Amino acid sequence: MTRRNRRADYGRILIVGTGRAGVAAAEELRRQGYPGEIAMVGAEKEGPYDRPSCSKGILTGHKRPQDTRMPFHDEDLTWYLGRKAVDLDPDNRRVETDTGESFAYDGLVIATGSSPTMPKWAAEPGVHLLHNLEHAWSLRRALRDAERVIIVGGGITGSEVASAVRSMARNCVVIDSKPQVMVRALGEEVGNHVTDVMRGEGVDFRLGHRVATANRFRDGWMVQLDDGENLVGDVVVATTGGRPDTAWLSNSGIDASKGVVCDESLRVVGLEDVVACGAVATWPNLRYGPQLRKAEHWISSLEQGRGAARTLLAEDGDPGPVTVIPRFWTEQWGLRIQVCGELVPDGEVSISEMKRHRRDTARAGVVVGYHRDDRLVGLVSVNAAHAFTSLARAMIATPLPTLQATPMPLQTDRPLNTEIAEPARRRLASVA
Ligand SMILES: Cc1cc2nc3c(=O)[nH]c(=O)nc-3n(C[C@H](O)[C@H](O)[C@H](O)COP(=O)(O)OP(=O)(O)OC[C@H]3O[C@@H](n4cnc5c(N)ncnc54)[C@H](O)[C@@H]3O)c2cc1C
Repeated sequence: MTRRNRRADYGRILIVGTGRAGVAAAEELRRQGYPGEIAMVGAEKEGPYDRPSCSKGILTGHKRPQDTRMPFHDEDLTWYLGRKAVDLDPDNRRVETDTGESFAYDGLVIATGSSPTMPKWAAEPGVHLLHNLEHAWSLRRALRDAERVIIVGGGITGSEVASAVRSMARNCVVIDSKPQVMVRALGEEVGNHVTDVMRGEGVDFRLGHRVATANRFRDGWMVQLDDGENLVGDVVVATTGGRPDTAWLSNSGIDASKGVVCDESLRVVGLEDVVACGAVATWPNLRYGPQLRKAEHWISSLEQGRGAARTLLAEDGDPGPVTVIPRFWTEQWGLRIQVCGELVPDGEVSISEMKRHRRDTARAGVVVGYHRDDRLVGLVSVNAAHAFTSLARAMIATPLPTLQATPMPLQTDRPLNTEIAEPARRRLASVA
């Protein structure tokens, strides 16, 4: 069977999701010389913006929404903002939106990211989430009159919110089931140091605890913990994580309950001429192994968006795997925290303190390396940007180990028409 020359015959590529991954895909399509229409459908009314600012500059008041616009090359893109995709019909190659419009496509990029889930204990309305500009503005307004803020979730976003709250001279308590903050993202070693810094900055903690209930109390809230303790506060923020935004794919015949399953080139398994990228996608990142993984950070989403675009345009042959080294940063408490690679829990750990024997290890600068089979595979640093950059560069330059993806079964019961089924099978065979 002869593959089509896709660049020539794609009339319209539709990108659903106008965040970091979707915009990176659009830019890359143009960079690769794709001449057809690129239609951008996004649920938010705002054009693309810097989402990480929502828990940083916007909350502290150092940035206004207009300061967060994402810089990008708007090269002849057609925008359909304020439209939420509600259905994908892959047989007829159409996406329906909540406005009743129907968008045809020849190639489709799924880039709908993830969104936070309201925890079960938040039965009463008024608990704040933090994922977009609207959330950030609403929380900023609430913080103005607050004296005590209850933050549920001590991950990166929760800790950034605590940093913003303390910088506004408000009190806050952080609740998390883990014994330190940001353990999943920074590992135990650095998680410990940053928890100490936060304590020193006046954050009250309830670590190793979960929330049982949250109820309105006078003008604020009473939050009850699993050990029966009651905490009173004016504002409650839940930063307990989210899930991939895939509700609109429920009739498409693919199982997207844990993210859109892709092959190693980010082609959606079971759908023809469809790729996915960013926080919505799960794929075998062959740099690390054949298991399905997510890359949920800003830089990874950008790199995935570019990779997915190249895959979509690939003509006959193998587009090659899209591999990403997870990297992210966060700035809080006057600390610049940077992470690169995988902080493998079973790896060997090396610790380099920039100024030895200082009690404030984090502020003085520390780099923690994670090693597997004598290779550096993960790196986390605090206030040690120079050391981090040179080590991270060396790690990124290390050639890929030769890993193979395991074949993924078609994740659909939808009867595929033969036109679609044949190439899809060929792809799976090529993965095997
Ligand atoms: C508060 C906050 C702070 C963060 N800070 C950092 C940081 O410091 N460093 C870092 O590396 N990462 C950070 N991140 C993570 C980073 O923002 C994400 O990894 C990145 O935005 C993912 O990009 P994406 O394009 O996949 O998804 P998103 O940025 O979530 O974009 C997806 C877009 O799709 C839209 N969409 C969803 N469903 C539909 C639908 N059905 N139809 C149409 N459009 C839809 C959404 O409205 C959204 O605009 C932060 C995230 C948050 C929420």
